[in-house]
Order: sequence, then structure tokens, then C-alpha cells
Amino acid sequence: MRIIPISLPTPFYIGPVNVYLIAEDPITLIDTGPKTKEANEALLEGLRQARIRIADIRRIVLTHAHEDHCGLARSVRDQAKDAEVLVHAWETGHRVGRLEYEEHRNLLVRAGVPHEEIETMRKMYEGVRQYADSFAAGEYAELRDEEELEFETGTLRIVHTPGHTPGSCSFVREADRTVIAGDCVLKRITPNPILSPDPVDPSKRFASLAEYLVSLARLRAFAPTLVHGGHGEPVHDFEELFNRYFRAIRERQLNVIRLLPRSGASAWEIALQMFPGTDDVHRFLSVSEAVAHLDLAHSEGKVRLEIGDGKEVYRPL
Ligand SMILES: [Zn+2]
Ligand SMILES: [Zn+2]
Repeated sequence: MRIIPISLPTPFYIGPVNVYLIAEDPITLIDTGPKTKEANEALLEGLRQARIRIADIRRIVLTHAHEDHCGLARSVRDQAKDAEVLVHAWETGHRVGRLEYEEHRNLLVRAGVPHEEIETMRKMYEGVRQYADSFAAGEYAELRDEEELEFETGTLRIVHTPGHTPGSCSFVREADRTVIAGDCVLKRITPNPILSPDPVDPSKRFASLAEYLVSLARLRAFAPTLVHGGHGEPVHDFEELFNRYFRAIRERQLNVIRLLPRSGASAWEIALQMFPGTDDVHRFLSVSEAVAHLDLAHSEGKVRLEIGDGKEVYRPL
């Protein structure tokens, strides 16, 4: 089984995105790139070099539903004359647009984000939505953990690896311990656990960082020799990277706990201290990061969490 990476430009800060073509029956594209003319052209060129016509694609598999990964899914499906689209059911929040706005807004209010900041975030993310088409229920099939995607010469095992988003999936080729990991594993940066509603109970927050640690451990159990991430170069030394991620997460947790004053602080206040001078674009990511670390510390019994006045306040023990 040949996994062919194709790099596509994105309008986002993160830079180009990697999508993966498996050029054997049924011809499958894992991720599609954002909905821009440039990404579409680069995708067509990548397919041409692999001697595949877009009309030959039978299956579109999404690692997760962020715009840089899923934006062109509908367009590719239409050009491929109704290829099947597969995505994990827990990506529901992203499926019909960026996120269910009300649910999301509640999470930000509880994290102590001021109303005018929430409004700025909303405007920004409305801008981001133009880079993806949404899918209605019934227009896609579900990726299910532990099932296999079959190909002419082998299979890819679907491994649900929540963390970056609730429905993030990785695909493992056990024959040669190769993994396609989307944004679960990135060579140069520790992936952001993005603030999301819990897909099972949207009034709650998804325990993104705790879930992420489990996902990493699950991938580690395959002893991967090659990991294809959603951005940047492939990872050949997963064990090294795994240890680096773990150290980084533990160090950051210690810092976050140290920042908590006796009187307590909201996740938003901690985010401002963790990332002073962050511009608008990155405020949402900063507050996601602060919430993720505070929630993990709370679930590990290292900080207290109190709710008053609709806001959550974390306190040192
Ligand atoms: Zn992503
Ligand atoms: Zn990405």
C-alpha cells in the first residue's frame, strides 16, 4: 500500500496542510485541504503527478473537521461523482459549520472570557467558516474505532484519537507500523487541545487534554516507525516525540498551577498570563490551552474548581 502525501497551501497561520492519497482500490483521499482555489489547484496537481483523476476517488476520509483538513470535502466528493465521505460521529460540532455557536459561547462565558472578546472570536471564526463546506446528516458515513478501511493490498485500522478535537481519528497500517495521525501528532509543535463541547453532553466541556494523553498512549502501543501528521514533515522517532510531548505537558501544568493566586482565577485570566500580548487570532487558542491544562490538573486533584456567578474559578489546594 502506497501512501502518497500531498502538501496544500492554507490561508492559516499554521501553513500548508498534508493530505494523503492511497492510490489503490478503492482510491482514497485522507483529508482534502481548505476550500480555496489555491488548495484545489495544488490538489489536482498532486493527483495528476500520482496519475489519478479526481473522478477516480471513491472514498474521502477526514481525520477531523477543521477547515484546513475538511474544507474541500464536498467539492472533491462532487467532482469525484459521489465518493463516500467518512468522519467520526464526535465531529458533529464541526460538521454543520464551525461549532454550534451557543454551546461554544457558554463554554467561553464559563471560562471567564469577557463578552467583547467572545464577540471578536465569533467574528473571526465566521471568517474562517468560508474555508469549508458543511455536511448535513446522512451525507457522510461514520468512522468507527477499531474498524478497518479495506484496500486491495491491505487495511488501515481506524483508531479514534480524541484530544485536538473530540472526533479526531488516526489510521494505522499495522503491517509496517505506519500511522496517519492528522493533527494528533505534529513534528514541530505540541498540538492544541481545542476547547470543545462534550459530544455526548454539550453542556459540558470535553476533557480534551486527558483524552489526548490516552490517545497518545494508544498510538504508542503500535510502536509506530513512521507517523504522517497533518502539518510538517513525517515523524520517524515517535517515542522521542511522545516523551517530549509528555514533558512539555507536565511542565506547562506546573506553570499553570503556579500562576493560580490564593484568591483563585478564571481560565481566561490564566490564559492572559500564560500568553501575554497574544493577538486576536490566537486568544481562542490561548484560552483553550489554559482550560485544557486547568481541567487536567483538576481531574488529577491538583487544583480546586468552584463555580460562582456563572463563571468557573480555579484555586490552588
Ligand atoms: Zn486541526
Ligand atoms: Zn490542522
